[in-house]
Amino acid sequence: MLIDMHIHTDFSPCSIIKIPQLLKRAQKVGVDGICITDHNTIASKSALGKIADNKGLCVIVGIEYTTSKGDFLIFGSVEHIPAKMDAKDLLKWVQKEGSIAIAAHPFRKDRPFDTGLLQSLKIIEGLNGRNKPHENELCKNWLQKHGGGMKEIGGSDAHTLEEVGQVVTVFKKNIYNIDDLVRELLYGNYSPLKRNP
Ligand SMILES: [Zn+2]
Ligand SMILES: [Zn+2]
Repeated sequence: MLIDMHIHTDFSPCSIIKIPQLLKRAQKVGVDGICITDHNTIASKSALGKIADNKGLCVIVGIEYTTSKGDFLIFGSVEHIPAKMDAKDLLKWVQKEGSIAIAAHPFRKDRPFDTGLLQSLKIIEGLNGRNKPHENELCKNWLQKHGGGMKEIGGSDAHTLEEVGQVVTVFKKNIYNIDDLVRELLYGNYSPLKRNP
């Protein structure tokens, strides 16, 4: 099952993707699911609620949460997430809620991630569609040295329609909802994949 885990809609100030077009595009490029991860907001949830039929596409709303130590992709009970926590409080909250925190594009030059903190995470975004190739390479090298037991996802980080589905996570098991996703991220088998849809 292919899921693009990192997509911004126009609820993010930097993205031009509208939700109805996103759903069509995702189906066209052959992914089975998408995660909407807008910057510090889950506003897409109410817009999605008005769309009656996703035509079999699994649509999950997470959030890309900004902290001074790096950006996190958060999946789980994001509708209750307090705003503007620092990284330490965010990770405490994630733990308490049984949610998931993933280091987003940890080696991107303009959005660096605290490498000490990185070591304490279980999952990182090893492949990001907006990273420069050498930034993904840095991540790969870091994982080889320090990432024992760590799992990796991939996401396009799409801000335009053309980017959707270019980088995905391949899951062994099927995922139909947020509970499936959280369970598979914690215990399942998956890996990032770059594709040319
Ligand atoms: Zn953005
Ligand atoms: Zn992003």
